[in-house]
Order: sequence, then structure tokens, then C-alpha cells
Amino acid sequence: MTTRSLLFRQLFSHVAIILFMALILSAFVVYYAYQNNNGELTVKIRNLAAFFSEDLKLGHIPEREWELAGRATGAVLWLEDSNGRIIQGSPPDYSGEEPYTLIDSEAYSKQFLFSTKAQNVVIISVPVLIQDKPGRLLAYHQISPFYVKMIIRAYFFPLIAGLTAAFLLAVLLSRRLTRSIADITAAAKRFSAGDYTSRTRATTKDEIGTLGKTFNAMADAILHTQQTRRTFFSNISHELKTPLSCVKATTEALIDGIAVNGQERTHYLERILAETDRMSRLVHDIMDMEHLESGKMFIKQERLDIAALLLHQATKIEPLLQKKSISLLLQFETNKRYVLGDADRLAQVLDNLLSNAIRYAPPGSPIGLLLTEKAQWLQVSVSDQGEGISSEALPLIWERFYRIDKSRSRSLGGSGLGLSISRGLMEAMGGTIAVESEKGRGSIFKIGLLSER
Ligand code: ADP
Repeated sequence: MTTRSLLFRQLFSHVAIILFMALILSAFVVYYAYQNNNGELTVKIRNLAAFFSEDLKLGHIPEREWELAGRATGAVLWLEDSNGRIIQGSPPDYSGEEPYTLIDSEAYSKQFLFSTKAQNVVIISVPVLIQDKPGRLLAYHQISPFYVKMIIRAYFFPLIAGLTAAFLLAVLLSRRLTRSIADITAAAKRFSAGDYTSRTRATTKDEIGTLGKTFNAMADAILHTQQTRRTFFSNISHELKTPLSCVKATTEALIDGIAVNGQERTHYLERILAETDRMSRLVHDIMDMEHLESGKMFIKQERLDIAALLLHQATKIEPLLQKKSISLLLQFETNKRYVLGDADRLAQVLDNLLSNAIRYAPPGSPIGLLLTEKAQWLQVSVSDQGEGISSEALPLIWERFYRIDKSRSRSLGGSGLGLSISRGLMEAMGGTIAVESEKGRGSIFKIGLLSER
């Protein structure tokens, strides 16, 4: 219904414009055609007025000359004084036609053209002085039917052909426009009915095409969100399934009396504890992700001593380092030590980067923790001499749940959320995070925060 009425409105406005233009054009053509036809006569009547000026001083034109003038011009001539009283000659009887009126009060001093509705009639009036009083010489002339036919043939036939073509074009254009809108509407309806692959083909380079493209982009974005959501849920369930089955199996085994003594019982209970820890970490990570994405994560912007934070982190990871015989090289290459950020969140990012470095570094190798200064920024680099990351995997490591080696990362206790959260946190703090890595040559993760005095 809407489409139809829009089509009608479009068509109506096109046709109205075409007709209006045709009307104006016709008025001009008719005016100039008549003007042209009567131009010669006008000149003749003017010349007559000049020629008779001497006779007019006496108030009368000799009959013989008057007759000759009538024949020479092919028009009915008469003279009137300023009160419309006929002095000489007589106007034809055009009482059945529309009475002609003076175009304006100054008409006595002007030559004017007048065409009645009924016939193609022209009355030319030229101001003259009759016995030194204002009057006028008038000529009544009927345009020949041949001339009218000629105008019709030369102008009106092509005009009608042009109008028809313009009308057809208007129909075509209007239908094209409404067809694009109908296509977008149909695509939107299919989409809202659940067909997320529905797209419009109305993507022309105009406003409607832009609307179509915008709809398609919106549909792509929604589809992407849907897919991400689906992947997200399948990842969560997958991540929870492994520790849950482990907890279940171990608990059942304990109930069945698998542990023969207290030491064994402790061993199984510790396994359960480790798995529940893992699940709780995962839940915390998911909550962090959610808060970051919804913008609900509360981030403090405080002046903090990053050097002290790095020393604290170094002490914190000592047991982990010892476990893998990894040495830590802590270096400060700047005297600056204050940044703007959130101490807890920064510690969370460093925890993640350091535990990854330890996780992926070969036993016995060193890892580096370096503080440097770069323009107004303080930069922390966490480096390891582990297996590194291939150039294909490099852009993907920031994605949620992405792990290069799934089973290995899981066995090492990773969830694939750490880097994604770290990036979100650094961005929320107004900082940066980047990686440089090459397969087989280790990795360097760098974070930057604005330096404070
Ligand atoms: P995970 O919990 O699995 O470590 P992250 O988001 O922290 O999740 O890291 C994503 C993936 O990036 C890891 O699974 C691993 O494949 C890769 N990765 C991260 N840090 C390093 C590193 N230092 N060396 C090699 N690979 C790394």
C-alpha cells in the first residue's frame, strides 16, 4: 500500500512538473509565434500612423488613402479618440467574441496585441495624435488558419510526442525508485522473520542505494553478533565441560572409596580444588569480558608507581619461575616511574603476560621484564624465548577463546581469554598493547601508558 502510494506520488509530481514546464513553454511559443506573425503588420500600422500624421492633424484621412491602407495591410482599420469614440473607419463586429479590454491605462501610448479566445484574432493599437489630441489607430486582423495549423504541426505535435515520452520515462523512473524501496522492505521483512542471510540488491549509487547498503551492513553486523554469541556459548560450555567432568569423576571415585588413605584422599581433593579454581577463573574472566564489552568495567585513573608494581609482580611469580627453572631479567631503562592507570587492572594484565611468558618459554630459559620510556609514554616489555607466534596466528591471539594449540593451552591452564581481556583493559586505561613475535624466536608483548610526573 505504502509502495503504491509512493509510486503514485512520485508519478504525480513528475507529471505535474512536466505539464507545468510544457504549459510555460507553450505560452512562450504561442506568444512568440503570434508576435512574429503580427510583427510585420505592427510595423505596417506604425508606418501608417507616421504616414498619416499630417492628415491626422486635420482630424481625417482622405477616403482613397484610407481604403488603400486597409487593402495594403489586410486588416480592418479604424481611428478612435481617447474616449473610444470612432473618428474614422469602423471596427468589425466582434461582439459575440470576448470583448477586448485595454491591458493597462497606459495603453494609449503603447502598441499592444490582443487575442480573443474564440478566434485567432489580433488587434493592434498604435498611439496617434488626432487634431493634437491623443487617440489611436487600430487594426483588426484574423490569423490565417494555415498559420495556426503550421504552429500545431511544428510545435504541438512534437510537444505531445515529447510529453508522452516524458510520461513514460516518469513511469519508468518512479517504478525503478519504488522497486528499490520495495526490495529493501522485502529484505528487511525476511530478516525480521529470522532469515539472517537476507540482503537487498538495491545498492545503487544514490540515497536509496545507500539505504540498501546500510541495511546490508547492519544485517552483516547482526549476523556476526549472532555467530559470535553462538561461538561464545559453545566455547563456554566446552571450557566448563572438561573441569566439570573431572570434578564429577573424581568425586564419584572418592565416594566409591578409591582413596585408600588420607594422603590419597588429599591428592584427589586437591585435584577437585584445582579444577574448581579453574572454573572460577573462567567465570571471572567471562565476567570481566562482559563488563569490558558493555562498558561497565570500573577503571580507576590514578597516578601509580609502575616500577614498584613491576618489582611486586616479579616477587609474586617467583614460585612459578622456580617450578620451571626460569630466570627473570628485570630492567629499568628510565628514571621515570609514574603512570596514569588502575593498579589492580594493570597487575591483572601483567599477570597474564608474565604467566603466558612462563607458560610458553622452555624450561631453563630466561624471560625479560623491561621498563622503558618512549616520548610521553612508559613502556613495559615482557619477553620470552619460547616457540613464538606465526604471522598468521598473530592477529588472532587477541580474539576471545583463540588458542594456537588448543589442547596444549588447556593442559597448561589457559582459557584463551587472557589476551582479549588484557587488550580491553589497556584500552580502557587509555593505554596500548602490542606484540612482536616470530615463529621459533620468542615473543615480546609491550604495554604502554601515559607517563606522569
Ligand atoms: P591462554 O589462556 O590460552 O594463554 P591468551 O589469550 O592469554 O590465552 O593467549 C592466547 C593464545 O596466544 C595462547 O593460547 C597462545 O597460543 C598464544 N600466546 C600467548 N602468549 C604467548 C607467548 N608468550 N608465546 C607463545 N604464544 C603465546
